[in-house]
Amino acid sequence: MKKIAVFPGSFDPFTIGHEGIVRRALSLFDEIIIAVGANALKKSYYPLEVRKAMISKVFKDEPRITVDHYEGLTVDYCRDKGAGYLLRGLRTSADFEFERAIAQVNKALVSEIESVFLLTVPEHTSINSTIVRDIIRSGGDASIFVPAAINLKDYKGEEI
Ligand code: ADP
Repeated sequence: MKKIAVFPGSFDPFTIGHEGIVRRALSLFDEIIIAVGANALKKSYYPLEVRKAMISKVFKDEPRITVDHYEGLTVDYCRDKGAGYLLRGLRTSADFEFERAIAQVNKALVSEIESVFLLTVPEHTSINSTIVRDIIRSGGDASIFVPAAINLKDYKGEEI
């Protein structure tokens, strides 16, 4: 059976931290679905379609990676897609505590889905989408924090 993993997140925007986790996970899974969570209650800076377009550009030459979005429970989405694994990245012990709670609840909801965590490389530990967003909003150059394929000037955010 194919090993399919879902990498869920807000990706507002997608950073080199996210990219690093996905590229490394390619050696573990046959397919990875990067799934942007579409939460009607949570306002984003980049609209959903823009976030998906950015990520698709990064992985346009990688047929084993697809980009999608979902609403509702992540585990329900995984089941719909036939994915047995939920991929997440860990930067700090705070990430660990947050992820532990979610993964344990997900396990209780759907026992056959395994959460898999990859520790970020040290250089990516301090990178998070909130800081990158703040730099962009304030007119700074955040290009070193996003994948080379993403030219931030091509995308427009919305004030939240
Ligand atoms: P969420 O809104 O679910 O936190 P994010 O887009 O912030 O979504 O993150 C998605 C996943 O990527 C999470 O598992 C998060 O821990 C991980 N992640 C975010 N930034 C980094 C980074 N710099 N290095 C490694 N993993 C990261």
